[in-house]
Amino acid sequence: MAYQIVKKNSLRFVRNTTEIETKYISKPYEFGTEDWKAQQLFFTELKDCKYWIKCSCNNNAFIYIRTTSKKYYLYSLEADSRPSHEKGCKFKPVLNDGAQPPKKRLNDDDFVFFRKTSQTKTPNKPNADPKQVKRVKDNKLYSLLRHIAQDANLNKVIGGTRSSYEEQKENFLQGAAKRTINGVPVSQITFMNESQLSKVRKVMLSYETKNNVFPTSLLIWIASEYEIKDSYFTFKDINRNEQKIKNSNVSLHHPLGSEKKGPFLIATLCKFDNRERKFYYPQSYIVPIVSNECWMYVDSHYERLMAQSLIGRANYFKSNSQIYSKIIKPADLIETKDGDLVLPDFELEIKNSHFFIEVMGMNSWAYRERKADVIPKMTKIAPVFEFDACIPSTEQDLSDSIFNFCIHKFREFG
Ligand SMILES: [Zn+2]
Repeated sequence: MAYQIVKKNSLRFVRNTTEIETKYISKPYEFGTEDWKAQQLFFTELKDCKYWIKCSCNNNAFIYIRTTSKKYYLYSLEADSRPSHEKGCKFKPVLNDGAQPPKKRLNDDDFVFFRKTSQTKTPNKPNADPKQVKRVKDNKLYSLLRHIAQDANLNKVIGGTRSSYEEQKENFLQGAAKRTINGVPVSQITFMNESQLSKVRKVMLSYETKNNVFPTSLLIWIASEYEIKDSYFTFKDINRNEQKIKNSNVSLHHPLGSEKKGPFLIATLCKFDNRERKFYYPQSYIVPIVSNECWMYVDSHYERLMAQSLIGRANYFKSNSQIYSKIIKPADLIETKDGDLVLPDFELEIKNSHFFIEVMGMNSWAYRERKADVIPKMTKIAPVFEFDACIPSTEQDLSDSIFNFCIHKFREFG
C-alpha cells in the first residue's frame, strides 16, 4: 500500500511512493546502516523539494519531515486543524533522540473561532472562571494578534524611531487587513473604542446577512491596568472610560505578572446575539505591551523595561551618532541550521552586528534549566547576551542596571 507524496501547502499530488519508499516511511532503520543511509537520502529529497506525505490510513492525515543535526525523521502533528490518523495506522513516527516535539509556527490566514452550530447555543454562559486563567501561548486569539503584529511591524523598532498611539493603531489595522475571521478581513471588524459598538453591530449584521456567517468582531483596548473579578474583568481605556467585560474566557499572556504595571493590550472577541439583541464576549486575551506609543508585545514587565530602555538608547545613538539599529521582538520561531526552533526574547541589529538578548526573569530551577537548554541553540545563529533581572533588589537598581546593560551594547556595537 503506497503513500501519496504531495506539495507542501498546495497539497498538490506529486506521486505515489514506490515499494521501497513505503518501507522507508513505515520502518525506522538502525542508525548508520546502509538501509538507514538510503532512508535518510529519501527524507532529504522530500524535505528539499518541500513535500509532505499523505498517510495511507485515511489519505487525509499528514506526515512531515524534520531535520536535526544528526538526521532526518518523520513526524505527525496532533492539532484540531489537521485530520488525525486512523486507529491502527501503520505509520509510527521515528523517535528522535530526545528532541522536542515541533512547535507550531505562524501559518494560518483565516481564523475560525466559533463553529456555526454555536448559533443555537445560549450565549453568556460563563464557561471559565476568569481567576483560573492560564498561559495559553498557542491560544488562537493570541495567534491572530501575533500575525497582526508581525504584518503591522509592531514587533520592530527601526532606527529608534518614536511612534504615537494613533500611528500604532493605524499600523495595527493595516496588519489586520491581511487576516480574516470566517473570511471577513479583520480590519473591517476591529474596533478600538466602545462608543463604536453601534457601528460594530451594523457591520456584524451586514456580514451575517451577506455571507450567512455568524459574525465575530475584535475589540481592542490599551489599558494601563486591569482587574480580574469572579465573573468579569474591568479596566480603564485610553480615554479613562471604565470598561467591564462580563463572562469572558480570559487568557493572560503573563499569568504570574502584575495587573497594575501596564500598559496592556486587551483583545476581546465580540459577538452579537440577535435574539437577545445584545453583545457578548466569549473570549479575551491580555498581553503586556511596551507603551501606549509602542505596541510591541512583551512577555513580562522586565521585558517591557528592557524594550523601553533599548528604544531610548536606539533613539539617542541615532540622533547623536547616526548609529542605525533595529530592535525586534521575534513574533515567530527562528529555525537554526540544525533544525531547532528557538524564540529569543529580543533580536538586535546595531550597525552590522546581530545578536540576541535573553531577559532572565525568574529564579526557579525549571526556568533556568529551560534557558540553559535553548540559549546554546540560539548561539548557533547569533551571540546571546543574558540580562539577569533577578539580581537587582530595588526598582531603581533594576532600571539602572538595564540602562547600563543597554548603553554598553550600543557602545560596544555602535
Ligand atoms: Zn496514518
